[in-house]
Amino acid sequence: MENIVVTGIRGLPLIKAGDNIAAMICERVKVDDGDIISIASTVYSKSRGYTKHLSEITPSERAERLAKLNGEDSRFVQAVLDASQDIIMEHPFILSELPFGHIGVRAGVDQSNIDDGMVIFLPPEPMKAAAGIREEIKNITGKKVGVIITDTCGRSFRRGQTGHAIGWSGFTAIRDFRGDTDLFGHELKITEEAVVDEIAGFANFVMGESNNGVPAVHFRNCPSWAGHDNLYFSKDEDITRRLLKEAYPS
Ligand code: GDP
Ligand code: MN
Ligand code: MN
Repeated sequence: MENIVVTGIRGLPLIKAGDNIAAMICERVKVDDGDIISIASTVYSKSRGYTKHLSEITPSERAERLAKLNGEDSRFVQAVLDASQDIIMEHPFILSELPFGHIGVRAGVDQSNIDDGMVIFLPPEPMKAAAGIREEIKNITGKKVGVIITDTCGRSFRRGQTGHAIGWSGFTAIRDFRGDTDLFGHELKITEEAVVDEIAGFANFVMGESNNGVPAVHFRNCPSWAGHDNLYFSKDEDITRRLLKEAYPS
């Protein structure tokens, strides 16, 4: 098996609405079948115009209340509420569920790496976003790559943020080891590896969080895997979600 080679894609400009990031990536890296391209949701959203000026936003009463509670700008809080399908927790920060299944702090709405007074939303349909980029790369190069759209997210139980996959295309999210045997012949009963998050995590490491200017990462020689796409727990399965809802009724 060949070594995995991971390369940050440099030299991309500040992304504006209307930019074709698939084409911009293909100008800067030579892709091959089976390669993986990981793209920060920030730049995907900027290219699609999933952004807003705070001055265009009128906060609701709830936004005003939560802004006071958490010491935030009520227009920013309104953007978070607009992006959310359900609020899991209101304080000390808003934890919300997005329509596509992701649960994240402040609905993943960012105020960094964009002009002052603007917010960036997560792409509303990140699976379609990843599939669209994959398709565009195939049209440009004739190569079939996998695509992951990432965001930097906090986690439960541990300090520190890591990259998470919020959309993917070209492979399954999960590598399913159930039924496989370990080195001693024991059957694995519960191991499902969230491969897309592992790749997103390393891509996020290569990207950095601030002014690196590396919003996309190229992976060569990743082994392939098989599994399924049920990355998000259903509401019944998700114990943490349920307990938080019970603890913080809103
Ligand atoms: P997020 O994790 O999707 O919220 O994105 P970040 O704001 O953390 O940015 C990830 C990486 O992309 C960092 O290296 C940023 O410097 C870089 N980045 C963000 N926006 C742009 C852009 O418009 N152009 C370029 N070239 N890099 C960007
Ligand atoms: Mn982000
Ligand atoms: Mn980030």
